[in-house]
Amino acid sequence: MCGIVGYVGDEYAVPIVLEGVEKQEYRGYDSWGIGANTEGGIIIVKHKKPDDQEFDWFVERVMRVDFCSSRNAIGHNRWATNGEPSDINAHPQTDCTRKIALVHNGTIENYRELKDFLLARGHIIKSETDSELIAHLIEDMQKQNGGNIRSAIIKAVNQLQGAFSLLIMHADHPTLQVAVKKGSPLVYAEVKPSCFMVASSPLPIIKYARNGKDIEDGQIVFIENGKAEELSFADEKIKINPIIFEGTEEELKHEGFPHFMLKEIYEQPCKLGETIAGRVFTHEPFIRLGGVEPVLPQLLACDQFFFIGSGTSYRAAMLGAWMFKNYLNVRAQAVQASEVGSHNILAGCQPDKTVAFVISQSGETRDLQLAIEEIQAKGVMCLGIVNVVGSKIARMTKAGTYLRVGPEIGVASTKAFTAMVLSEAMLTLLLGRHKNMTRDECITFANQILAVPGCLELIFQQADEIQTLAKSMVDQSALMLLGRGYHYATILEGALKMTEVAYIAAVPELAGEMKHGPIALIKPKFPVIVVAAKDGLRGAVIQNIMEIQARGAFVIGICTNGDEEMQKLVDKSIIIPDLPSHLATIPAAVVFQLLAYYLGVERGYNVDKPRNLAKAVTVG
Ligand code: GLU
Repeated sequence: MCGIVGYVGDEYAVPIVLEGVEKQEYRGYDSWGIGANTEGGIIIVKHKKPDDQEFDWFVERVMRVDFCSSRNAIGHNRWATNGEPSDINAHPQTDCTRKIALVHNGTIENYRELKDFLLARGHIIKSETDSELIAHLIEDMQKQNGGNIRSAIIKAVNQLQGAFSLLIMHADHPTLQVAVKKGSPLVYAEVKPSCFMVASSPLPIIKYARNGKDIEDGQIVFIENGKAEELSFADEKIKINPIIFEGTEEELKHEGFPHFMLKEIYEQPCKLGETIAGRVFTHEPFIRLGGVEPVLPQLLACDQFFFIGSGTSYRAAMLGAWMFKNYLNVRAQAVQASEVGSHNILAGCQPDKTVAFVISQSGETRDLQLAIEEIQAKGVMCLGIVNVVGSKIARMTKAGTYLRVGPEIGVASTKAFTAMVLSEAMLTLLLGRHKNMTRDECITFANQILAVPGCLELIFQQADEIQTLAKSMVDQSALMLLGRGYHYATILEGALKMTEVAYIAAVPELAGEMKHGPIALIKPKFPVIVVAAKDGLRGAVIQNIMEIQARGAFVIGICTNGDEEMQKLVDKSIIIPDLPSHLATIPAAVVFQLLAYYLGVERGYNVDKPRNLAKAVTVG
């Protein structure tokens, strides 16, 4: 994870970089740091984030320092991988002479060997980070080659193993910034003639430029004296691909809402409308997914499907696999990205009859990238279900579909999850229409998808009730979530939201499994949230509710609109619209999002920046 950002040009660099660090806070907030190249050398301000302080606290410390109007600065948001969050481990990291300063996103795998090598050569290592070693390595290479910084950087980066994006400056080169990329994302742009910005994401840059370049693995950009030179790790001149940065400044603010998480929850009717706009019809062709259609013949020849994701995306993956099994009658399986390498998941598969849908909001998830490499190496096609346009995973996959929900800044995913589920429903319709669904079935399925965005309003009408419910549970250290069928994924996602933002041990259980063990947790007044929707499993769920009520549980039911009997049975009900269960997962998930949000807020936590987390998980 981590965010890196830099500016070099004719403006004061520190305010621009500071703003960039704030915009990339979703990437990490263990510590913040700024380094500026000044006539008196490199000045660094870096701090661990105190538990009770936010970004303004850091800004205030930066403002106390005279950066001598520096026009060249780099900044960092850290998500610690090597060494605890502390001031000394915060970036920028420097070499022995403090002439080289750099910020790093990623992890260096040959960290131990490098450290031994550098210690043996007399370097003084101050921090526990892998990143600091890179500064010393460059210093060492520079000593060996008579002081040439450019070849020292190239020699050094060629010795690094692992994932790294770097932004490097040198005190003796007042206008130099070097951007290096392997494995972690990095973009740059000439924001006005001879002025440049480099960052982990376009977010800090879009205010200044829309046209940029997407640095690829093995590429380096040397910016000096107002010119950018693009090179490979082999020191050959190259041309880096231009891209247009998407997104608007407005999307990066949460005006009108106290947090990004709440804004993004409320955006769902509108954003899910965009997910399906121009794609789903109640008449022929019912569905048009431009990003998938080029591979449709190949897709139709497949009889085995994998859905792969991490965290929230894995919960969405489960739903995709079940929709494919239930509606298309094919073999389909969800797998966590981090587990792809642990099991021979492709055992017995015919590569040309198998496809893996790879699911990611950021399109950067390192575990998923590794999974894709492994799957593609076995000749199996990967198709992306991704939010960030042009992201690494979108480019690694042969084809796919974008979620179209705009930037998701809240660290706990909300709108991306519901858009993933809706996208999987669209893929089900696309294949079903060509495989086994009748015209009438297609019409019904399309109508159901089209109804989803609008019907979420019913949940928002109950927001006050959900908030009151959260207040009543504020002192609970644990609670249980029950569901069956598709709603097992809903409760897994609900439990994840509560864990992420409210730090509550929320135990998700299959309702049918209760009597095989978990019912031991039930005692009088213990809160249990049950997805008790009106579907084929309703009768079994009623039985499960009665069993836990008999033991005194306080049952909060997520019940279907109009199901009076169920609403009477439970102790407290929240109503969801009447949709088929694969789609009812969406409003049910929104109930959990709101409940987790209010629980987190009522318990006094910053729900946009949960403890120990970062948005884009770019380390494996
Ligand atoms: N490995 C570096 C550190 O721990 C960078 C971490 C990251 O990219 O998240 O400081």
